[in-house]
Amino acid sequence: MARYTESVCRICRREGQKLFLKGDRCYTDKCAIDRRAYAPGQHGQSRKKLSEYGTQLREKQKVRRAYGILEGQFAHYFELANKKQGVTGENLLTLIERRLDNVVYRLGLAVSRPEARQLVSHAHFLVNGKKVNIPSYLVKVGDVITVAETSKKSPKFEAVLASTEGRIVPKWLDMNKEALEGRVVAFAEREDIDLPIEEHLIVELYSK
Ligand code: SF4
Repeated sequence: MARYTESVCRICRREGQKLFLKGDRCYTDKCAIDRRAYAPGQHGQSRKKLSEYGTQLREKQKVRRAYGILEGQFAHYFELANKKQGVTGENLLTLIERRLDNVVYRLGLAVSRPEARQLVSHAHFLVNGKKVNIPSYLVKVGDVITVAETSKKSPKFEAVLASTEGRIVPKWLDMNKEALEGRVVAFAEREDIDLPIEEHLIVELYSK
């Protein structure tokens, strides 16, 4: 499957916002967006004001890139969100939040979403006792996510837990660090999503 190949820090700089794609580095003064708060490339510092369409497009790209979602899959999420009752933009964000790679990240079992995606793809996790290696798998209330028995002894998870120590697990999830086990206790609500996103702009973009 096609993935982004450019430096992830360039993605943040293009979107003009920290998307926390690199783990620990994002919280230090080495963060590229703190050092060079302008878009990458030759004309990055002389970027013109965006049109209405450009602003809406950037907002969609920001969400796609923060969560590592390809265009087609994002459009599919929008379709599902639009069919659901309620506010489409909120439906969209809370639906995306249910992706297994995001849940692994939110539980503190990966330092970043890209790392969570890789760990899920490499089958390091079980959902309700069964191996799931699909990052886009949508969790449900009551699902239990555990680190696979063979992976529990890996120094990788020791390092990850040390790195994510102190990270706040959102209230819709419950994490047992000793057992390396997380549980989905509710669906995420809009207020649980901490990235500054103006989802109404994405809805406007798809409504054109
Ligand atoms: Fe983005 Fe993290 Fe790179 Fe900063 S260090 S630009 S937040 S990926």
